[in-house]
Amino acid sequence: MNPPAILLPGATLGVMGGGQLGRMFVHAAQRMGYFTAVLDPDAQSPAGRVSHHHLHGEYLETRHLAELARIADAITTEFENVPAAALEQLAVHRPVAPGGEAVAIAQDRIREKAHFTRCGVACAPHAVIETDEHLALVADSLLPGILKTARLGYDGKGQLRVATREALVQAWNDLGRVPCVLEQMLPLAAECSVVVARGADGRMVHLPPQRNLHRDGILAVTEVFDGVLPDAAAAQAVASTQAIAEGLGYVGVLCVEFFVLQDGSLVVNEMAPRPHNSGHWSLDACDVSQFELQVRTLAGLPLAVPRQHSPAIMLNLLGDLWRGGSTPAEPDWTSILALPGMHLHLYGKTDARVGRKMGHLTVTGPTAAAVRERALKACEVLG
Ligand code: ADP
Ligand code: MG
Repeated sequence: MNPPAILLPGATLGVMGGGQLGRMFVHAAQRMGYFTAVLDPDAQSPAGRVSHHHLHGEYLETRHLAELARIADAITTEFENVPAAALEQLAVHRPVAPGGEAVAIAQDRIREKAHFTRCGVACAPHAVIETDEHLALVADSLLPGILKTARLGYDGKGQLRVATREALVQAWNDLGRVPCVLEQMLPLAAECSVVVARGADGRMVHLPPQRNLHRDGILAVTEVFDGVLPDAAAAQAVASTQAIAEGLGYVGVLCVEFFVLQDGSLVVNEMAPRPHNSGHWSLDACDVSQFELQVRTLAGLPLAVPRQHSPAIMLNLLGDLWRGGSTPAEPDWTSILALPGMHLHLYGKTDARVGRKMGHLTVTGPTAAAVRERALKACEVLG
């Protein structure tokens, strides 16, 4: 269906997926007076537990999709592995943003890289590996590299580092000989990302570019304040993100991740057709968060230009912090919250597994130096 006419508060907004991103979308929508509906197979999903309606079921089951389309006036998605076919099925009945085609491109590194190139945005030198012939034809210049599955990778999963041709052959076997992309290992100076929101009328607003630090392939820290990234790279990241959104005819919130190389040049890494972990700080340090932007794009409301009102550092809280074997102990929230400028977000997950995103902590303060100091103290308490 065509992009939504304006849906005013009181309407029901639906979301495919019940993880933490869906939960924060639901919070933002409810705060503005919307009703919410979540479709997720897990009865205990973080978003399902706080939504007005929670449909438990598989994303492709016609019965659940029909019910979601009946309850919700417009529907969005909170993770990119929702089958594009499900979004297309919903779009027969209701406005869906982002559309199935944009999500399908973001689901597949091969199509994603082709889209970046089409938009004139440079990505890492790479080769598509789908057959033994492709493997044999790989240029030596791509090694050492990273072999990544085209689909379903996240948080560093579904990728292997390879230094030699023998290792490459072995890695492709280990990844199950599924379609992959081999990327040249690049000399990174920094990583950054940009969150953009684009309305049905083509108008775009964006959050300030954020600097990201990963640990073991998982986002650990995001920093957003003046000077955290070289000005030229930050400006280029914004322009590239806008070109990528424009090229998709995108409606909704899109996050694009970049590498800043040691020579100062910028290379696009990947995109997410939804709010992103690296934009969570906007809930506490911006007057319009990425989740409110998602609500506004879905409801056809005007997109206000976000203004950052505090320097911010976001620390991801992974399950590793819940110590104590069979009865894991919670981190010391009392000591954390005794520090100034702490904004604690927990996603309501009960099972604190290693590497699982349980929540995040945004640290704000009057200056970047104060925020750094407070974040360091928080890290000391977290251990
Ligand atoms: P995921 O989908 O799991 O986030 P990414 O493709 O973003 O996978 O890779 C995870 C991390 O691995 C990146 O954030 C970066 O730190 C590192 N990385 C990925 N590709 C490259 C590359 N071509 N060169 C150097 N480092 C890379
Ligand atoms: Mg990534």
